[in-house]
Amino acid sequence: LIQYWCDLAVVGDPAHGNVAEGVLLTEDGGVLTSVAVGTAPAFDAVHLRGITIPGLVNAHSHAFHRALRGRTEGISGDFWSWRQQMYAVVDRLEPDTYYALARAVYAEMALAGITTVGEFHYLHHAPHGAHYDDANAMGNALVAAAADSGIRITLLDTCYLRGGFGRPLAATQLRFGDGSVEAWAERAESRTMGRHARAGAAIHSVRAVDRRGIEAVAEWAGRRQMPLHVHLSEQPAENAECIGAHGCTPTRLLAEAGVLTSRTTVVHATHLEAPDIASIGRSGALTCLCPTTERDLGDGVGPGLALAQAGSELCVGSDSHAVVDLFEEARGIELDQRLITRRRGHHAPSALLAAATSGGSRALGWPDAGAIAPGRLADLATVSLDTPRLAGTASPFAVAAVVFAATSADVTDVIVGGRRIVGGGHHCFIDDVGGDLRAALDPTAGDPR
Ligand SMILES: [Zn+2]
Repeated sequence: LIQYWCDLAVVGDPAHGNVAEGVLLTEDGGVLTSVAVGTAPAFDAVHLRGITIPGLVNAHSHAFHRALRGRTEGISGDFWSWRQQMYAVVDRLEPDTYYALARAVYAEMALAGITTVGEFHYLHHAPHGAHYDDANAMGNALVAAAADSGIRITLLDTCYLRGGFGRPLAATQLRFGDGSVEAWAERAESRTMGRHARAGAAIHSVRAVDRRGIEAVAEWAGRRQMPLHVHLSEQPAENAECIGAHGCTPTRLLAEAGVLTSRTTVVHATHLEAPDIASIGRSGALTCLCPTTERDLGDGVGPGLALAQAGSELCVGSDSHAVVDLFEEARGIELDQRLITRRRGHHAPSALLAAATSGGSRALGWPDAGAIAPGRLADLATVSLDTPRLAGTASPFAVAAVVFAATSADVTDVIVGGRRIVGGGHHCFIDDVGGDLRAALDPTAGDPR
């Protein structure tokens, strides 16, 4: 039994933006058992200065894309030329190097206040598509990396069967494929998780899986009541090719194949038609926006407001990890809309905070996290209000200040299931996260094979 005394905390549903002063949290067995507001400082409680929010949830990650940071931003091109650079990184990853990279990336996430990651995992096999002795070696490396960095993971095991509409997998992509949806399911089925890990499924995109495969994955995930994620309409070319192949938009194809349910999250959803937006909203599916990646790749700005108004709960992901900062993702939802509409105030600050916390929790199958409330998992992030960025922001506006001005560097304390993994801005059991990233990203390091 541990108690935390918070100067300020966002209590209850984060979408309500209810900031309370002097909040005493009691945790037992990883779960919050009481949330008492307006208490005097408790002598033996752990003092969390600043504002404590539910742990941030990164609903869309490809851990290995972190290797591209700084190396691709200055190069001209588009999504498709960036993808070629991304494939070059894939070519040098094996289970041990994948583990080391992912552990360092997840430690960077922990420092940024992220308590749960959704890893959209498709790098399943050895070069040329050969299988490792354990066919789940790469996914298991991610599950272990999350455990060893202290955060929770939902492993979204991704079905990826072809290189595009009517095109087989080629070259690097051979590592992504299981050959058939049945073989994908058999491999995904045989995985073992841990207390910190939950299983989910993903369809890479309508490009990478044929209609029968899409239906089969949806049926498989549905039988297991698992989260199901899918990249959707990130690029206009995907829409054009889908219309050419199926006579309908990717969203309509997914709807007809039974993919869109309240357990589903569509990722990006950048280039949608009005009927697509209505269909996603009606289904209760969530939308995961990744504004920093969508900016970085020149994807465009998706209809986040229209999707939210249609009934799709929003969440966010750092996706390619051009930056790992969920405050930047959350405010990006609003600020990008402002650039398009030349108006302010589309999404309330509390709605943006909810996208980065409770929305992501639901998207990743952790509905028991995502809020500071009795019975919820004790996943917390504390943001200092004394940093140069946040000093002087008054407490009635604390949620707006955090959402619009905080960065990852302002996170001081992170608690996952009652276990402190970050204290005073430092990782509690990984001494040098920067050094680990540098080592994992040095292509000349490690034993050459
Ligand atoms: Zn992605």
